[in-house]
Amino acid sequence: QVYKSDFDNALSNDCKPAFGRAADALEGLLTNGIVNWGSPVARALEDCQMLMRQAKFSDRTPLVSALLEGPPSSGKTALAAHIAKNAGFPFVKVLAPSDVVGYNEPAKVHHIKRVFDDAIRSPLSIIVLDDIERLIDYSPLGQRYSNTVLQGVMVLIKRPPPPGHRLFVLATSSRRELLHELDILNSFTAIIHVSNLSRSEQAVKALKEMNLFDDKQCQEFHQKTAGRKLWIGIKKLIASAEMARQAENDYEIPTKLIGLLEDDQALQLPNC
Ligand code: ATP
Ligand code: MG
Repeated sequence: QVYKSDFDNALSNDCKPAFGRAADALEGLLTNGIVNWGSPVARALEDCQMLMRQAKFSDRTPLVSALLEGPPSSGKTALAAHIAKNAGFPFVKVLAPSDVVGYNEPAKVHHIKRVFDDAIRSPLSIIVLDDIERLIDYSPLGQRYSNTVLQGVMVLIKRPPPPGHRLFVLATSSRRELLHELDILNSFTAIIHVSNLSRSEQAVKALKEMNLFDDKQCQEFHQKTAGRKLWIGIKKLIASAEMARQAENDYEIPTKLIGLLEDDQALQLPNC
């Protein structure tokens, strides 16, 4: 037998409102927060916030779309999630390739369209379109992609919401060149570049602010890497530092990280 208490119990424990689920999805993309490791981060955040405000307040542009593009692991998804989470829009939805895994082309387009249809029903909405190239099934081998899904996405990105409604689309991609070749860069209101870390000082700041390294370890890392060429995404840096931290002795950690970065060709070898 089912009692009212069972319904109450399910409502308070099992059924999450749509926004609650979206908030969980955003949290999941922000595992390590956002660290301001240097001016490229500050600039990207500022540009995103400007566009977000434009979407929220400008009567002339009820539809605003931003493409966050940058190298793999540079932090595109987390930045988009951070903006979406803090914008204060009542409707937020993350559309990621994993949501449509195993769908055929029409089913994919249908799913994506449903997300956009739901979004424009609310007066103020954000959609995060994560990893556009994977949503359209791009494969670098043979340069294949799904034109059906691409056309669907493009139509939806350009479709203005009904009067009185506003929509902000935040898309991410690691393949700006591809999007250029597909002639879809112009469909976005603005393109925001997300950069890799390129200097030892920036890596030190990130390591310190995320409490991955203590002061002494930061100092040693800096001493051994200052002036050497560095090119690494924040996600990769976090993963490598976390791996180095598994070393048996604390004093080995900075050297381990340096070794890992050199092996990855993310850090120039000394005296090169
Ligand atoms: P991929 O190319 O694989 O899609 P990505 O560029 O989307 O990777 P994210 O998945 O966003 O990278 O990973 C970035 C990670 O770094 C997240 O865990 C995030 O919390 C953390 N992070 C810390 N500081 C920053 C920052 N300034 N910008 C972005 N991410 C940051
Ligand atoms: Mg990503």
